[in-house]
Amino acid sequence: MRVRRLKQMLLFGPYVVFLVTVIMCVLLFVLISKEDRRIDALEEEIGHIATNQNSLIEEVSSVSSSVDELGSAVGAISKELSLIDIGAYEEKTDANERKAWPKKVYLTFDDGPSSNTAKILDILDKYGVKGNFFCVGTENEDLRKMYNRIVDEGHVLCMHSYSHKYNEIYSSVDAFTEDLDKIYSLLYEVTGKKPVGYRFPGGSSNSVSKIPMEEFIKVLDERGITYYDWNVVAGDATNPMLPAEKIIENSLCDLNEYEEAMILFHDLYNKTSTVEALPEIIEAIQANGIPIVPIDDKTMPIKHYTSTN
Ligand SMILES: [Zn+2]
Repeated sequence: MRVRRLKQMLLFGPYVVFLVTVIMCVLLFVLISKEDRRIDALEEEIGHIATNQNSLIEEVSSVSSSVDELGSAVGAISKELSLIDIGAYEEKTDANERKAWPKKVYLTFDDGPSSNTAKILDILDKYGVKGNFFCVGTENEDLRKMYNRIVDEGHVLCMHSYSHKYNEIYSSVDAFTEDLDKIYSLLYEVTGKKPVGYRFPGGSSNSVSKIPMEEFIKVLDERGITYYDWNVVAGDATNPMLPAEKIIENSLCDLNEYEEAMILFHDLYNKTSTVEALPEIIEAIQANGIPIVPIDDKTMPIKHYTSTN
């Protein structure tokens, strides 16, 4: 029995082993191919993820480059804006400066007092403005009263030499000093007030004096007297007399060239067109809102003289 069973086992054993092996192989194959598919699916998924990641990276980089572009665009815009701002500011500043000039106008009258002084004072009074009178000496008592009227009405009384004779004043430092002392004393005695400043006959850059103007300026400096030239010329010094329209034009056309404009007029008996022109000149200046002021400590003295003259 045992032998028969053994025989049977020997006979069927290999078949069983073979069968089991086959079954196991099939199972293994099924398992492997299943795992294979899973691996494939996983690989695919990984591929997808990688692709997604790449496209995400691409997207991020494109977004970041867009942000960069936006940033540089913003930078460019802001730069442009700031340029526009600065440009606008500069333009505004220029325009303002141009519009704001002159900030002050000084009306100065040389060579008085004369028969026109009272008329000039009346006009200044009518418009409520103060003038600056660079006066010469006079023996005429009626005209001397004008020194007082100038001071009493709040105008500035300045010196313009006593004699106004170029050949005498500029002949020597002594002659200049003597003439200066004479006009200073006269104005001080008549009005009780020290005259404010000086204007050289012919200006500090006159070509008449044979002695360097520096010598005379030194005399004024020693006495603490400021001299004033001018930067706008009414042109009324000419002979024959200039028509009022021309004086108006001369007085107004160059005004905006200067921060402080000092107009030179003449107060002489024969300068009636100056008196005639004055109201329109004042009205035009006032219409532009520019103050007409008297000389004071803050006035920037206009000086023609330079050491190279
Ligand atoms: Zn003069």
